[in-house]
Amino acid sequence: MKQSIYLDYNSTAPLRPEVQATMVQAMDLCGNPSSQHRDGRAARKIIEKARRNIADFVDAPAEYFIFTGSATEANNQALQCVDWDNIFMTEIEHDSIFKATVSPSPIPVTSEGLIQLGALEQKLAAHQGQKNLISVMWAHNETGVIQPIHDIVALAKKYGAAVHTDAVQAIGKIPVSFTKSGVDMMSISAHKMGGPAGVGALIVKETVPLTALVRGGGQEKNRRAGTQSIVTIAGFDAAIMNAAPLEHLRAFHDRMELGMLQLTKDKAYVFSKQADRLPNTTCITLPGINNQTQVMHFDLAGFSVSAGSACSSGRVQVSRPLMAMCRNQEIAATALRITSGWDTKESDFPLFFSCWKEYYQHHKSQQQEGSV
Ligand code: PLP
Repeated sequence: MKQSIYLDYNSTAPLRPEVQATMVQAMDLCGNPSSQHRDGRAARKIIEKARRNIADFVDAPAEYFIFTGSATEANNQALQCVDWDNIFMTEIEHDSIFKATVSPSPIPVTSEGLIQLGALEQKLAAHQGQKNLISVMWAHNETGVIQPIHDIVALAKKYGAAVHTDAVQAIGKIPVSFTKSGVDMMSISAHKMGGPAGVGALIVKETVPLTALVRGGGQEKNRRAGTQSIVTIAGFDAAIMNAAPLEHLRAFHDRMELGMLQLTKDKAYVFSKQADRLPNTTCITLPGINNQTQVMHFDLAGFSVSAGSACSSGRVQVSRPLMAMCRNQEIAATALRITSGWDTKESDFPLFFSCWKEYYQHHKSQQQEGSV
């Protein structure tokens, strides 16, 4: 293999070296954070420091903060551990939201992937007086589209609903303030920003009558049982403390997208191109080539990219969110996601672009030969 270039940061980001060093150090500690002796106190100190740092990073009070084993768990707790009458979510939510309730009430999105606020307002008005939750992800894992959280919260306040946001893809990529946003609950995860997988958090206002999803001991103020993992929590803290702005990546993505659109004479389609997006995300079609085939081709050429969200079941499926946006199987099935992050170099983009160009031109010439 000529090279190995990782462009799948929205799936998971490589562990930062500082995070690895912190985690290795934390492995030397043996105390249970719930124990009273000095070893327990030392472990507890690490957890409480991490809680303060991470809460500060997202501008939330530390006492609202519950450590969980993942953002999937945090999302499930937010939806399942309050007796909601209705849960409204967009059609493009992550499966950890979409499948966390037996009766999701999907709100349509525009072709750019933005929530249709009029449709949300209709639902809220129709169910006013009930215990309603709106769950909308802050930024999308496949397209990077950023939702109008402030407008959603304003509507929620008007109709007395609560708001949860899955901010997994937003934190570390764009500024996120729990307090200023006005949301009631927020889920986050460490491994999309250079921290370890297996640790996340749910941030919850004291006004939300949340119970535990995982029951047992009294950890996390009775809201999440189970001995906290000092190693992964210390890693989460280190990832937050070493987070660096990613805004510079936007220009590289823009230039690459422009090159792709010019090459294909606008036959390629960039999802959410006209909307406010994360600086690190491009979701673009390569017309005529199924995205699973594209992923394999680029893998052989040394690039790790993805066909929408990581397919945990190993089944090949067209992305539900992309279908909801474009309502076109052919477009959704040819969309490739290219996502960058803390260790991506400017030179990675022209390298990927020339591989993409070669592939496109090869496919086009084969099509032309076929039609002669
Ligand atoms: N929400 C979004 C938007 C994601 O992209 C992911 C990860 O794929 C998750 C939730 C789940 O996060 P975790 O892997 O921490 O369970």
